[in-house]
Amino acid sequence: MYDEMSKSGEPFDIYISTLAESRMRHQAIKATPDRLEVMGLLLGEVCRWRGKAYAVVMNVGTTDLENTPAKVRFDPGALPGLFKELDGAGFDYIIVGWYHSHPGHTCFLSRTDLRTQRTMFDQPFHCALVIDPVNREIKAFKLSEDGYTEVPFALVSEGGPKLRRLRTGMQG
Ligand SMILES: [Zn+2]
Repeated sequence: MYDEMSKSGEPFDIYISTLAESRMRHQAIKATPDRLEVMGLLLGEVCRWRGKAYAVVMNVGTTDLENTPAKVRFDPGALPGLFKELDGAGFDYIIVGWYHSHPGHTCFLSRTDLRTQRTMFDQPFHCALVIDPVNREIKAFKLSEDGYTEVPFALVSEGGPKLRRLRTGMQG
């Protein structure tokens, strides 16, 4: 999928900073011994190129979780802390989607995941990232007419010109 997109000259649906990717990956790996799911929000920006909207994920926001091997949600008592963390993100982000992990059971959207996506993340740029730290897999999904579809993403090194421009443009 990556190779095809690179050749097409079209923008990927999602660009993920190496900072955001490593934070998600490490959070997922840390919970792997107990096979716990983790989750969080994708913070970034929506850009447009030749009429196509795509998301740039610059960072992630997460907090204490109520999690089991097959279920995860934010700990309701920790939400004020999450909002505080988001406020301290240091840039004017928008929430471009969410991520969660499937430790050992591959990357897809379950019926519950799909319901979450339809309820909370129904904009064309909204995506869902699923990480399987056991099978070392990460996939990006978006809603489609008949459910959901996998979409291509690319990693952007944190100091890349695009991210640097976004960050400096948004300070203050
Ligand atoms: Zn899931």
